[in-house]
Amino acid sequence: MNNQDLSVAEALERVLATVSVLGSETVSLLDALGRVLAQEVVARDSLPPFDNSSMDGFALISADIAHATPNAPVTLKVVGDVAAGKWPDFRVARGQAARIMTGAPIPAGADAVVPVEGTDENWREEARPLPKAVQVFRSVDEGGYIRPKGDDIQAGATILRAGHCIRPQEISVLASLGVPKLSVVRRARIGILATGDELVSVEDALSPGKIRNSNGYAQSAQVAALGAIPVPLGVARDTEADVRTKLQAGLDAGVDMFISSAGVSVGAYDVVKAVLSEGGDVNFWRVRMRPGKPLAFGKYAGVPYVGLPGNPVSSMVSFERFAKPAIRKMMGETDLTPRRVRAVVQDSFKSDGRESYIRVILEQHGDETHATTTGNQGSHVITSLVKANGLLIVPEGVGEVQRGERLTAILL
Ligand code: AMP
Ligand code: MG
Repeated sequence: MNNQDLSVAEALERVLATVSVLGSETVSLLDALGRVLAQEVVARDSLPPFDNSSMDGFALISADIAHATPNAPVTLKVVGDVAAGKWPDFRVARGQAARIMTGAPIPAGADAVVPVEGTDENWREEARPLPKAVQVFRSVDEGGYIRPKGDDIQAGATILRAGHCIRPQEISVLASLGVPKLSVVRRARIGILATGDELVSVEDALSPGKIRNSNGYAQSAQVAALGAIPVPLGVARDTEADVRTKLQAGLDAGVDMFISSAGVSVGAYDVVKAVLSEGGDVNFWRVRMRPGKPLAFGKYAGVPYVGLPGNPVSSMVSFERFAKPAIRKMMGETDLTPRRVRAVVQDSFKSDGRESYIRVILEQHGDETHATTTGNQGSHVITSLVKANGLLIVPEGVGEVQRGERLTAILL
């Protein structure tokens, strides 16, 4: 065990260096949403899989209508009707056309589509019998309104590589390519331990000196919000034996990481510190941040361990800054920087020189984002976070922030 004063950036770098990407599992397509691919995806089909029409209209030979105008329309014989989902079993020859719907395959012989609006067919009518002939009022270039086979994706091409994060648009392409199951990085299982003799559970009535265990729920929710799996380990009393028992339950459950709150500071009953000092390869850091400061980090029985401070705001902000990127890395993500904006500060306030995370309301005003502090910024004031949708970062070394300054804010 050692005690060090670290900047947020140094602490984060050390946290990230300690965790590594978890193994993979096979999931069904929709369950892959928000996950990171552990395999590459090669297209087994081209997309589109066949030449098809991008408009409702008539498939024809472009040379036939090269000089068609509203005053000099060209009349073509209609030899077929192609609905989406049907394969045309006829050819279009010179002087002929086939009615075609958006997405329907182009019949052999045709080299362009004229949209229905460029013809005499009344497209406002609902049920339209197939006309015997069609007048065309405009020309169309060869290939016009045809989406060629493979325009988007060629069969055999590598479409997604391992490490790619699955968003709704990736779900779309995977569905198009007929991929019902895929291999993704598995979800991290995170043991959540609250510690403190003062804690009672959410169902319990308060008695003198007690408070409800909010951190256990807060960190479980933060873990769940990342798509990871919280494994609640309950509340440990302020005894080394109880902390050890609860951590053992986490080891038995095979958690990938421990997150605890409280007991890592310099109080007389900070037993988490004592347990980790013996049983773990854990460092105690004073991170130069506010809220926050005490943070334990390392491994307990080989499992990464993040010991958050106890105050509710500190625990949540420290989670956001350190545990969240670590969990995201474990789940295969590579861009671990939080989503940020530059914001114009709306009030003036003092800072104590530590990197500070001010809870703010971010509002869009034209092209600018305004940041207004949410009042009392005490690390016990959870409503400062409830009102907030951002964390304004006051850099290290800054003593005062003036209204109108621009600073970076993390989006919550
Ligand atoms: P400690 O680090 O144990 O000194 O705790 C710091 C502060 O956080 C104290 O006011 C504790 O009562 C409070 N605290 C610790 N754990 C929790 C928890 N699970 N839920 C809410 N508050 C907590
Ligand atoms: Mg305590």
